[in-house]
Amino acid sequence: MGNVIAFCETEGSKLKSAALANIACAKQLQSHHGGDLVILLIGNNVQDAAADAAKYGNKVVTVNDAALENYLAETYAPVIVKIAGENNASAITVTANAVGKDVLPRVAQTISAGMASDISEVKGKDEFKRPILAGNAFSTVKVNSEVVCVSARQSAFDPATESGSSGEVVAGEAGPIDALGASFVRLEGVKSDRPDLNDADTVISGGRGLGKNKNNSDATPQENFELLGDLADVLGAGMGASRAVTDAGWVPADWQIGQTGKIVAPKLYFAFAISGAIQHLAGMKGAKTIVAVNKDAEAPIFQVADYGLVTTWEEALPELIEEIKKAKS
Ligand SMILES: Cc1cc2nc3c(=O)[nH]c(=O)nc-3n(C[C@H](O)[C@H](O)[C@H](O)COP(=O)(O)OP(=O)(O)OC[C@H]3O[C@@H](n4cnc5c(N)ncnc54)[C@H](O)[C@@H]3O)c2cc1C
Repeated sequence: MGNVIAFCETEGSKLKSAALANIACAKQLQSHHGGDLVILLIGNNVQDAAADAAKYGNKVVTVNDAALENYLAETYAPVIVKIAGENNASAITVTANAVGKDVLPRVAQTISAGMASDISEVKGKDEFKRPILAGNAFSTVKVNSEVVCVSARQSAFDPATESGSSGEVVAGEAGPIDALGASFVRLEGVKSDRPDLNDADTVISGGRGLGKNKNNSDATPQENFELLGDLADVLGAGMGASRAVTDAGWVPADWQIGQTGKIVAPKLYFAFAISGAIQHLAGMKGAKTIVAVNKDAEAPIFQVADYGLVTTWEEALPELIEEIKKAKS
């Protein structure tokens, strides 16, 4: 019997919503490992989020240190290893996002543990299902080491629900922090009032077809995406794009959805002028409801769409915005 340690990211006094998928996965693993679910928070003021985390686990360990203010795999991985050891962990889990994918291999290597990456299902104590070949097939993997390290695909696990009681909160010690010569210089992020793609209930995505606007031949692709943004604002949605668009530099690179971009699973996904290449589908086909607008009735996106509109985005977009505004008023 061992405990499951779920390393979760925080935002102010809350867990990041991506952490809830990790906790859902960790809870499933807990039922196979038999011990406690220990939620680990690392940073500088993470005690602020401990009360929120305590709603989900038997125990919350907070590790605070000025040197841990900004995430670095070099400094976070040893802390995870230390707290996992102190808590008799037989499994360590993270969300398979940028931070999780970065830190967990270091943890696994340090403790000579096997790792199952980007899993979509817990099949047993050490057996997992994971998508391969851009989500077109699944493999079942078995980890043979004593401790298993697992990163959970956010779109594959419904967010954990509160357990109804509050776990104990314990302050952990980081121990000596050695960044191995690395240092945090600065974070260059795009500030936006729209929800983060991974948190958004609705995502509005645009493809290469937004490069031109038949109603305004002078419009730049960026201006066309601003029109798409009007729909996002009416719906309080996040904005995404195909790789053709991010590669062209029409929108920020972190809008890219797909195999080599973000994997999202919103309740509602709009694909405007996106053909539906398998690499794009790999990032969004987990959405609950998919709406596709494409002028080509043969576009592959219609094979995964719940609602399809064979028309141009120039026709569909203003009408859609108008109707949604009417329905909301
Ligand atoms: C290794 C690898 C990784 C990749 N990773 C990703 C990834 O992560 N994400 C990703 O998206 N792609 C990825 N790609 C690229 C992918 O294969 C496609 O090239 C890309 O998704 C195409 O983008 P698109 O649908 O916007 O463009 P296109 O395929 O050019 O499709 C444009 C669509 O717009 C429609 N259209 C044109 N004008 C209009 C109009 N006025 N109104 C309505 N519809 C219109 C057309 O009918 C067409 O279907 C990857 C490729 C490789 C090889």
